[in-house]
Amino acid sequence: MAQIKVKTPLVELDGDEMTRIIWAMIKQKLILPFLDVDLKYFDLGVRTRDESDDRITTESAHAIRQYGVGVKCATITPDAERVAEYTLKKAWPSPNGQIRSILDGTVFRKPILVKNITPAVRSWKKPIILGRHAYGDLYRSVEMMVDQPGKVEIVYTPDTGRERRLLLHDFKGPGVVMGIHNLETSIRSFARACITCALSEKTDLWFSVKDTISKTYHAYFKDIFAVETQARRADFEKAGIGYRYMLIDDAAAQAMKHEGGFLWALSNYDGDVFSDVVASGFGSLGMMTSVLVSPDGKFEFEAAHGTVRRHYYEHLKGRPTSTNSVASIFAWTGGIRKRGELDATPEVTAFGEKIEKAVIGCIEAGIVTKDLVPLMDPRPAGHQSTEGFIDAVASRLKAMM
Ligand code: NAP
Ligand code: MG
Repeated sequence: MAQIKVKTPLVELDGDEMTRIIWAMIKQKLILPFLDVDLKYFDLGVRTRDESDDRITTESAHAIRQYGVGVKCATITPDAERVAEYTLKKAWPSPNGQIRSILDGTVFRKPILVKNITPAVRSWKKPIILGRHAYGDLYRSVEMMVDQPGKVEIVYTPDTGRERRLLLHDFKGPGVVMGIHNLETSIRSFARACITCALSEKTDLWFSVKDTISKTYHAYFKDIFAVETQARRADFEKAGIGYRYMLIDDAAAQAMKHEGGFLWALSNYDGDVFSDVVASGFGSLGMMTSVLVSPDGKFEFEAAHGTVRRHYYEHLKGRPTSTNSVASIFAWTGGIRKRGELDATPEVTAFGEKIEKAVIGCIEAGIVTKDLVPLMDPRPAGHQSTEGFIDAVASRLKAMM
């Protein structure tokens, strides 16, 4: 059987612990036998990051900027405990955070749906993709206790021009205050990344804040989204998708009654809350993918979960594991499909889709890892090992080629 040629290199970012083991199996059993692809490999395993003083992380992000598409394995974000465990020079910052800031990107989470796992929200039939703005608001706030009567004001001192003051509250007794901010460039990049992702997924775009109450701050977000979506109206029409602005509470209520199939763009705090609501509503972490999209259309695909540390320690003890590889497989297929789309090589895109079909075929036939068993209807009699599941996908895939 001839291998399928991928025109442009694909950037591969390796990772840590159980997902690193899964990652290698996927590559050996599902990708390399079928694809002739130039993988630009970066080892983001925590030891290599440490040895390179973390330069490898920056280099990998620049490679994604250069080639346009990357696939990433989950990685450890070291804390004090990890520094000791791996004898690291220091607690290097989160690789995901660094890559996101180099690409100026937004992370979108997308669930993988199968027939025999019903979402907790019964009306959900199609994925809800969630995009969270990752700058400012509550997460860059300043706060102050007010312990006695007095005025609190917002004072703006422009570099040139006159000072402006706004009374926040005239306190008659104790209380508390907070100041938050956001940036035009950051909101605009977020809006553009959401538009790029919605067009890429061919799915409607929703955006929601509370501009009836916050007539300046939230309205500023709403206006930027209006301008940016208007500028791409022709592309929306061509893709057959729409843009809707809704108040956040209205959107939350509608989302619970909707069948899904939209991208929900949310401000930082709303996104924090609703990404967990939507993720648990759809079922399992092992079935949630994530894609980082830059405003200018660079993509990095990965699983939304971490390195599954507990399973890795079991694996090191020589015990059998049953770790769900679906989201990691879909990181690869997301990258392969996007590569095919950007290169205009439909055979590459079709190969990515075939792997996904093989995965869904296995799950719908009751061939699953342990985490999915309690979510399934009907319940399968048993479960597969980590490798057993990937082997089952590989044999289905071979039969399709
Ligand atoms: P985790 O990897 O998300 O796993 C937490 C628990 O969720 C697991 O112990 C397991 O539950 C379940 N789980 C998650 N993914 C699963 C899968 N694919 N198959 C089956 N079960 C799955 O979080 P963690 O183990 O607490 O974190 C480990 C490391 O991941 C941390 O160092 C953190 O920095 C890193 N992390 C990386 C990323 C990323 O790179 N994107 C994201 C988050 C966390 P049971 O134990 O009950 O089986
Ligand atoms: Mg959260």
